Amino acid sequence: MEEALLRLKSEAEADLASLNSTQGIEPFRVKYLGRKSEFSSLMRSLGEVSPEDRPRLGQLANAVKQEIEKKFILKKEQIEEGADDAGGIPETDLSLPGRYVPFGKLHPVTQIMEEICSIFEGMGFGVAEGPDVETDFYNFEALNIPPHHPARDMHDTFYVNDSILLRTHTSPMQARIMENQEPPLRMIAPGKVYRCDSDITHTPMFHQVEGFLVDKKVSFSDLRGVLGVFIARMFDEETAIRARPSFFPFTEPSAEIDIACVMCRGKGCRVCKHTGWLEILGAGMIDPEVFKMVGYDPEEYSGFAFGLGVERIAMLKYGINDIRLYYENDLRFLSQF
Ligand SMILES: [Zn+2]
Repeated sequence: MEEALLRLKSEAEADLASLNSTQGIEPFRVKYLGRKSEFSSLMRSLGEVSPEDRPRLGQLANAVKQEIEKKFILKKEQIEEGADDAGGIPETDLSLPGRYVPFGKLHPVTQIMEEICSIFEGMGFGVAEGPDVETDFYNFEALNIPPHHPARDMHDTFYVNDSILLRTHTSPMQARIMENQEPPLRMIAPGKVYRCDSDITHTPMFHQVEGFLVDKKVSFSDLRGVLGVFIARMFDEETAIRARPSFFPFTEPSAEIDIACVMCRGKGCRVCKHTGWLEILGAGMIDPEVFKMVGYDPEEYSGFAFGLGVERIAMLKYGINDIRLYYENDLRFLSQF
């Protein structure tokens, strides 16, 4: 019995030494450590050994088994790691492709925001950013929206207290900049805005870019020209534009600017509700009341302002039909841009 155990141990060690491929691992395990192995039948025959020899042989059998198992596991790991027999130096296969390093990307809203800013910068506009937490004065009153003006209802405002709120549009930057600078002015103000609203086309936080220009003898045709250049660069040269009369308290006259539907090219489809047109931004000539608030002479200066929704433009440009997709952080969606 003792002899058989020691012979088995040296056989196993010799086999293990010549084991050098993953194909050899399983046959070795079956031969020496499996249930039908010679070792297992030796263990079973321990019962027939005389009682005085049994403890010693039992101990020896266990020690042999543990020794074989330990060496086998070590060898198996070496083989699986690609180590060779000689010195455990891994072989390098230079024909294998490299490891993939995932790249991060800018969020689609950030990409569009940067594109919008660069188009206006190309026309000589400066860029300014303002606070997300704004006073009631700059968000409303300085823009000709006094406390009881019905236009406040449209803003679904998040109030911090009676006089502090999360800005509902980027327009407060108009008043903040005009207060501190003299015309001529050409500025855009990109940033986050907040409204208590959430559905397929609204999120409680979204992005706007406000733009305005103030100088002597600025007319509505200047506004139309600047927006025409912007839309041609953002979409394409052929995109038709129209202005519809509208109302904003801080511009007079005011207009909604539509572009020919980017999906159907004006023929009519589900996206444009079969009108052939898509509303893209609000604009108008700055109301003289706003100029009075910041101390400009409305007889001397005139100007225009516009505000556009960044998510909306990205939706139209990329054909996205649910605004909430931007904020679910699903990489399958985000990595497409
Ligand atoms: Zn359409």
